[in-house]
This record gives sequence, C-alpha cells and structure tokens, in this order.
Amino acid sequence: MSSSRNVLVVGAGIAGLSVARALARRGMSVEIIERRSRPASGMGLFLPANAVRALAELGLQDRVAHLGTPVRSQQLRDSRGATLAEIYLSALWKDTGECVGITHDNLRAALAGAARVPVRTGTTVQSLTEYDSGVHVDFTGGGSGDYDLVVGADGIRSQLRRTVSPGAEPRYAGQICRRFLTDNHHAIDRWTVWLGRGTTFLAVPVSKDRLYCCADLSAPSPQGGEASDVAAWSAERFANRFAGFHPVVAHLLETPEAQDSYVSPIEEVSPRRWATAHTVLVGDAAHATSPNMAQGVAMAVEDALVLAECLDRPGETRDLLEEYRRRRLPRTRWVQAQARKRDRTRGMPPGVRNLLLRLGAERMYESAYAPLRDRP
Ligand SMILES: Cc1cc2nc3c(=O)[nH]c(=O)nc-3n(C[C@H](O)[C@H](O)[C@H](O)COP(=O)(O)OP(=O)(O)OC[C@H]3O[C@@H](n4cnc5c(N)ncnc54)[C@H](O)[C@@H]3O)c2cc1C
Repeated sequence: MSSSRNVLVVGAGIAGLSVARALARRGMSVEIIERRSRPASGMGLFLPANAVRALAELGLQDRVAHLGTPVRSQQLRDSRGATLAEIYLSALWKDTGECVGITHDNLRAALAGAARVPVRTGTTVQSLTEYDSGVHVDFTGGGSGDYDLVVGADGIRSQLRRTVSPGAEPRYAGQICRRFLTDNHHAIDRWTVWLGRGTTFLAVPVSKDRLYCCADLSAPSPQGGEASDVAAWSAERFANRFAGFHPVVAHLLETPEAQDSYVSPIEEVSPRRWATAHTVLVGDAAHATSPNMAQGVAMAVEDALVLAECLDRPGETRDLLEEYRRRRLPRTRWVQAQARKRDRTRGMPPGVRNLLLRLGAERMYESAYAPLRDRP
C-alpha cells in the first residue's frame, strides 16, 4: 500500500523538492539525487496565485510570504514606457490568493528545508532496469538501489524522459532570453513588461530591494543557425536589440549583473507518454513551456500534489500513474497552448499588438487564467 512505497526522485529543482515533500508527508520513504554538486542560482520567479496556493498546500505559506514579496498588478507598457494595460491581480485571481515575486534560490531553500529528505548531490542515474514489482537503479560514481517508483524531476533536458517517452525532445520556441537579479534602484513595485518589436523586457520585484529581470528577443530557429549559438549573444549585441527602449530598461541592461547574466533559448516539450509501470515524469521534464504565463512552478507543485494524492490510493502503480497523467494533462496542455498564443501576440507588429492590448488585455488575461483558479 501507499505509505510503504519507496521512491527515488531524480532532480532537486522545484519539481523534485515539491514531489519529495508531498510524498514524504503521506508517509512514503523518499530519496533525492541531484546531478549538480551545487545548485544553479541567479534567477527570479513570479508566482501567480495558483502557485502560491499549491505551495501553501505543501505547508509553505509563511515561508513564501516571508522570503518573497507580494505582487499586486501586472503592467504592460510599450517600449518607450506608455502604459497599454494594467491587470489587477486580486480581481483576476479572486479568492485563489496573492501573487508573489521570489528568488529561485529562496524558493528552493524553503522547499529543501520543508522536504526534510536526504539529497545526494553530484550523482545521477547510470542505468535503470524495471522489473515486475519495481526498479533497480545503478548510480554514477557507484552504489545502487531498488525502488517501487522513480520520479523524473530532471528538467527540460530530462534523462528519464528518454526512457519513458523516447524521441520526445525539446522544441525551440523562437526566443533567446537573458535573466538576471539586480538591486531595485528604480523602485519598480509591480510586474512590469516593456514590449518592443520582437523584444520584451520584464522586471519583477522579488524581495524588498531586489529585482528580477528577463529580456527576451526573437531569433531564427537553431536550424537557421543564429539562435543555436547562444554564446554569440554577447551582452552588447543583446542590448543593441533594445535600443530606443525606455531609459529604465537601458539602465538595467547596463548593470554589471546584466553583463554577466544567464542566456538560454526558450524551449518547450510535450512527451506523448509521462510514465511507464514504475517511472513517472513531473515538472519541466513532462511539460516545459515558454515562460510567458509564469506557470512553471505552479504546474510543478500541482503535479507533486496530484501525484501524491493518486499514489496514496490502493491499486497497481501503473494505474495510479495513468490517473495522475489523466488529471494533469489537460491543465498543462492548456498552459502550453496559452503560452504559444501569447508568444504570437507579442510577436505581432507593435502598432497592431499595442492596440489589441489596450483594448483587450483584461479579457485576454481573464480567459487565459480563469481555468487555473480551479483546484487541480
Ligand atoms: C526564462 C524562464 C523564466 C521563467 N520564469 C518563471 C516564472 O516567473 N514563474 C514560474 O513559475 N516559472 C518560471 N519558469 C519555469 C520554472 O523555472 C520551472 O518550470 C520550474 O522551476 C520547474 O522546474 P523543474 O524543477 O521541473 O526543472 P529544473 O528547474 O530544471 O530542475 C531540474 C533539476 O534536476 C537536475 N537534473 C537534471 N538532470 C539530472 C539528472 N540526469 N540526474 C540528476 N539530476 C538532474 C538539475 O540540475 C536541476 O536541479 C521560467 C523558465 C524560464 C526558462
């Protein structure tokens, strides 16, 4: 039965730590392995209210409120700073709760503290063999173990996905992005985006005095050459595409943190299968998406809650994992579809897009997020 399950979680990101916390709370025995010796850092996150609600269900409400900062509205501006629309988040999310800005480091630390599950770092799966009642795993660097279930929480480039759904590779979504954290010298107190021609600059407060920035630009597909070579996008070349933006954006792109920031292509993935008899995918490994809906954390934590609920019932593991996928697939596909739609809107000629947003942003936000107000 459920509480005697012995589970290996692969990946100690937001999805992996959330799953560990959710399963351990239901009495399952959980171990985590993490490929990196030290966590990657330097990112910020905007957490819409359904993410904060899911984290609260893991018992993290107070930690998230303490470590993050409330975000009360989303303001859309044109590249020179004129306001196109402002979305008030208490009206959008109704009684779902508050939205929050937080650093990735702080959220991960809160989850790791809460999970109280051992994390073995600097190792990964060397080989994995499923048999009738479980899985045998050999680890890189030595050692092995037998588990009832292995959870692949190993992100968009998931190694476990190759076993579960061979051939399901990430697709380039057409943008390159540069992310960094800096001091909030301009006292930006809401989620604020400046929209240019194929260029977007987002700033979100993530604590009392820190600001998370994410600049993205459309670039040809990797097959076309340019975008595949992320290293070719120097800070200077990147900033040139934002010439003519509001001075606040220009200044943020000149900060030392922007010069030395993390550059990556935006990708998404939709594997046909999420599980075998004893291995299952969660978070970005199962459904990474273009980040413009800011639903990555929400979907990962909701996956964790639903997976724990399904596994806590009697039944064959294979059937319980199918139930998990059946419950999660429509919602994650919805988010992916909305994100693609947003990318198309952002990519329109600025005159048309800006008019569309002035007239219809509130309606667009309502239709994209309303289904996510329901519990997963
Ligand atoms: C530009 C950008 C901006 C974003 N902004 C937001 C936002 O504002 N709000 C939001 O909610 N979401 C946002 N997201 C998405 C969000 O960060 C993720 O969806 C969320 O963190 C869940 O990630 P994950 O834990 O599934 O994967 P990851 O964060 O990738 O974690 C996977 C972990 O597994 C480890 N790992 C990988 N392979 C192995 C292996 N073989 N063995 C062991 N360990 C392994 C990795 O080192 C890592 O620690 C953004 C994403 C991008 C790209």
